[in-house]
Amino acid sequence: MIIAIDGPAAAGKGTLARRLAAHFNLPFLDTGLLYRATGRRVLDEGGNPADPATAEAAARALAALDTQRHDLRGPEADLAASQVASIPGVRAALLDFQRGFARSHGAVLDGRDIGTVIFPDADVKLYVTASPEARGLRRWRELRARAVVADLDVVTAEIRTRDAADEARSAAPLIAAADAITIDTTELDADAVFALALQQIGEKIAEKPGRVTHVATPSAGLT
Ligand code: C5P
Repeated sequence: MIIAIDGPAAAGKGTLARRLAAHFNLPFLDTGLLYRATGRRVLDEGGNPADPATAEAAARALAALDTQRHDLRGPEADLAASQVASIPGVRAALLDFQRGFARSHGAVLDGRDIGTVIFPDADVKLYVTASPEARGLRRWRELRARAVVADLDVVTAEIRTRDAADEARSAAPLIAAADAITIDTTELDADAVFALALQQIGEKIAEKPGRVTHVATPSAGLT
């Protein structure tokens, strides 16, 4: 079974994806980490994340360990990820890894183009969204929990800017797949989102019982 979860920044995709992966005993891939790690590699080398040749070379050289770095979050990494993500060569370089990740055991993947480009035939597609204000507040609380001092208005503005860039780019723009189920998390907590998603997935699977034959044991995850 492949569950594709897309949506804008800080909408609750990651939290939901992790819970669904645990529930269905599926591997989980946060695909944003691939773009964050690519951007970070470019910055490390003193390069420009917006330069296609540099960014594509960094994406092709990406190793699993790069995605486990502790400096992949924060404004600089956010911006670099968004810049490299708009480059078609970078997206092409990361495509096979994402498809391969789900090949043997299925997976839950979250990102921006999972249901539209990476797995257009996913068994279930969820588009998780929330108001920019709610998402800005969540991201601001996350930063505060990590003792990072930030201005709420600035955090919300950065999220809006990144979403606009993700939606406007020509390569795999952020958009809900035509057959995605939209979940608006503005007024919902994580438990309510999870319950709603389970209900929607149950209905979806019941519609096409021939597609989902079994739920396999997970792989070790990123290799
Ligand atoms: O999900 P996260 O906020 O970590 O993603 C960081 C950035 O990576 C996004 O703003 C987006 O530009 C890019 N991204 C993407 N496609 C994905 C996942 C992330 O373009 N599947």
